[in-house]
Amino acid sequence: MRKIGLIGGMSWESTAEYYRLLNQGVRDRLGGLHSAWVLVASVDFAPIEEMQQSGDWEASGEVLAGEARALRDAGAELIMIGTNTMHKVYDQVAAAVDCPVLHLGDVTARAVRAAGLERIGLLATRYTMEQDFYRQRLADGGVESLIPDEADREQVQRIIYDELCVGVVTEESRELLIAIGERLVGRGARGIVLGCTELELSVRIGDLDVPVFPTTALHCQAALDAALAP
Ligand code: GLU
Repeated sequence: MRKIGLIGGMSWESTAEYYRLLNQGVRDRLGGLHSAWVLVASVDFAPIEEMQQSGDWEASGEVLAGEARALRDAGAELIMIGTNTMHKVYDQVAAAVDCPVLHLGDVTARAVRAAGLERIGLLATRYTMEQDFYRQRLADGGVESLIPDEADREQVQRIIYDELCVGVVTEESRELLIAIGERLVGRGARGIVLGCTELELSVRIGDLDVPVFPTTALHCQAALDAALAP
């Protein structure tokens, strides 16, 4: 088994889910007392979120690149950035280490294509929905993404940062996210990508009539495929 390095804390609510899914995945695949060989570098999210708001992506990239180097120095052979949004600084992180950094956009595009789909609706942070760093990566992988209208994007952003990232999961917001997803399906999306690692703490596969792609779970599966490959 290769040692996985996870850059987490953005938010730690989803990092806890990463940690659980990596360990559950190893148990499912290897059985017995097997568990994931994983290092977690969990940052303080508050200053990172301030850098997002002020547009200082370069500085946040430096922080994550430093964490990637620390993970590599500690023996990680494969690195994951446990947030879709911070893939904005993927190149800075990947350039800091000489091991693979598993891109969440590539993993997601592959899963969508494997399901036989080409056009999905994307629920994510404003940065991920409105900028092109993630949607272009999906497009490069053969996947077209539709995003909600302005009012719905505002709601998704609010639910992520004001609720899910601070551990608040409500039925009201879950129903709102499902309704926003359904509107994207009405506009032609054939599946819904939960393109923020906290969204699957609320919306579940089966909540919509189309396939739902939970990026935290997909990222963990892909990391385990790589970590356990011969
Ligand atoms: N975890 C979220 C994501 O996957 C949002 C928090 C962040 O900005 O990192 O995009």
